[in-house]
Amino acid sequence: MTFELVVDAPRWRAHLAQVAQTTPGLVPVVKGNGYGLGRDVLASEATTLGCDTIAVGTYDEVPSALADFAGDVMVLSPWRPFLPGTDVDDSRVIHTLGRVEDVAALAALRPDARIVLEGETSMSRHGLDRHQLAAAVAALGGLRLEGFAIHLPMAGANLAEAESWAAALETSQVETDRLFVSHLVPHELATLRERRPQLQIRPRIGTSLWLGDLGALDVRATVLDVHHLSRGERVGYRQRPVPRDGYLLIIAGGTSHGIGLEAPRAAAGVLARGKTVAKGGLEAAGLSLSPFTVAGRQRWFIEPPHMQASMVLLPASVPPPAVGEQVKAAVRFTTAAFDRVVLEG
Ligand SMILES: *Cc1c(COP(=O)(O)O)cnc(C)c1O
Repeated sequence: MTFELVVDAPRWRAHLAQVAQTTPGLVPVVKGNGYGLGRDVLASEATTLGCDTIAVGTYDEVPSALADFAGDVMVLSPWRPFLPGTDVDDSRVIHTLGRVEDVAALAALRPDARIVLEGETSMSRHGLDRHQLAAAVAALGGLRLEGFAIHLPMAGANLAEAESWAAALETSQVETDRLFVSHLVPHELATLRERRPQLQIRPRIGTSLWLGDLGALDVRATVLDVHHLSRGERVGYRQRPVPRDGYLLIIAGGTSHGIGLEAPRAAAGVLARGKTVAKGGLEAAGLSLSPFTVAGRQRWFIEPPHMQASMVLLPASVPPPAVGEQVKAAVRFTTAAFDRVVLEG
């Protein structure tokens, strides 16, 4: 009962199952903070969904993924000779290779490793450009080619770019008919499958799978203390005078939980409205809107969030919550760290 995520498990799982059923070849992405839910939770759901492969972000995430999941573990971050953990020797690991010299280096180090070659898309993050494909193939040696991978931007002409890579793949010497894709939306996936029926398309999906039904996810922060405040009273680390009478709420949830001074994007609408209402008021007094909702509205921080709690101002006209009550909080799930994740139901 501190800063927690309560998951309506039946509803969340119904969404996961719906995505899995309508996305053949799905490779769930299980990385980072596990989209707020934890990578162990996600790995176990991927097992329930019957997926044969999950994708992790980095080599540091490989050991726990191998322990939590019985199938294959693809590493999205490209293999590099200098990164710790890249020498993992497990036939369930699928490495991503995006530089010709890395193909040669891994082929020398672990000749029978399983790999995908990655193409450099308009993301310009990692990958081989088209002119390097022949050299990469020539350097493969005994490496086991599991497919070709492309990571597309979130905006733009993704279908056209995916199609042009599919075409390049067919005319290249890259001997695979499996294409791992990132960030194609369902109708783009459907069109690509229709136009390239000979390709096996494997979509790597995180956000729209795990966070695709936000209504199933409830963030609850416990009110730890409530103080009555008079205008001008000085509070907090910074001892700034409060701009008006009201209540000071000490709420569980601070920087260590991923609470920042900027309310997350999901709350932008509320933020904009709050700012208009408060023009010349609390914002002018240097306050920021907090992600905590009390009595139906987002409330203002008295000062920047502390490490594990936040100080939030409630106007005198609003009856304050009782100590021990929980309030809702808007979070950016990919940066949130909850004290507890509770799967209910
Ligand atoms: C993180 C990542 C994904 C998953 O992205 P979402 O937006 O969470 O679906 C897919 N592919 C690559 C290469 C990634 O790094």
